[in-house]
Amino acid sequence: MRAMDIVFLGPPGAGKGTQAQRLAEELGIPQLSTGAVLRKAVADGTPVGLRAKAIMDAGGLVPDDVVADLIREALGGEAARGGVIFDGYPRNRAQAATLDGLLSSLGRKVDLAILVDLPEPVIVDRLSGRRSCPKDGLTYHLTGAPPKVAGACDRCGGPLVQRDDDRPETIRDRLRVYREQTSGIEDGYSSAKVLVRVDGTVGGPDDVYAAVRRAALAARAALSSSPPAGAPAAAKPAAKGKSPARRKPAAAKRKPAAKRKPVAKRKSVAKRKPVAKRRPVARKRKPARGKGRR
Ligand SMILES: [Zn+2]
Repeated sequence: MRAMDIVFLGPPGAGKGTQAQRLAEELGIPQLSTGAVLRKAVADGTPVGLRAKAIMDAGGLVPDDVVADLIREALGGEAARGGVIFDGYPRNRAQAATLDGLLSSLGRKVDLAILVDLPEPVIVDRLSGRRSCPKDGLTYHLTGAPPKVAGACDRCGGPLVQRDDDRPETIRDRLRVYREQTSGIEDGYSSAKVLVRVDGTVGGPDDVYAAVRRAALAARAALSSSPPAGAPAAAKPAAKGKSPARRKPAAAKRKPAAKRKPVAKRKSVAKRKPVAKRRPVARKRKPARGKGRR
């Protein structure tokens, strides 16, 4: 069986960590989050881990090249031979390019990018319920994915904490950064035809997972029936089956927006028939018309 490498994308709070964790368990592929890799390297005292620790101890952010070294180390490990599920990496275009390079040196590539998407207000609401274990990085949600014992980690029993990142005052900042940095990644995976969008608002985590699972199984089926990476046909692993159809909505989204513009002009005039109301509205209509033409 060929390795399958999956990337989870999505704004903070979309629940991608939980989804990745679940998919990792089901597929028997390790979940690889930057935080977990970092903690492990530091704990193991690897050269990269020590470098990262020195930077963090000095209050700095671990730079991309150190993160890349960490990922390289993890990808080279025995556990990662069957593939990896990335969660929280790559975060920007440079990291995505780095990841492509690291995988391609192993004869692999990103086979599936799952974008769990959510509107901003829902995210802010959800994040306040997030808790995590500082010791092993497992994440929970007070209502969505609660620990078996309230306030305690299922794995180690240690106390769960709310990360500073999950406090409402920092959430909007994180969302802004996310939108700025990851839009380019999405486009890249979309044109590589490996992007699958999952609506994070549909039902609960189980429903989201059902969609995630479908995408993963479809990708795996496509992989096992296509030649190894490097062969010409492997560039388009999903040229068959249902997955291409699922991707269309993402690309199709833009079209209606473009079509809507010319129509909007007429509509707004027709809709505002009531004579009495027309005058006060008239001022507003002009800028709208200008917009439509742009
Ligand atoms: Zn724990």
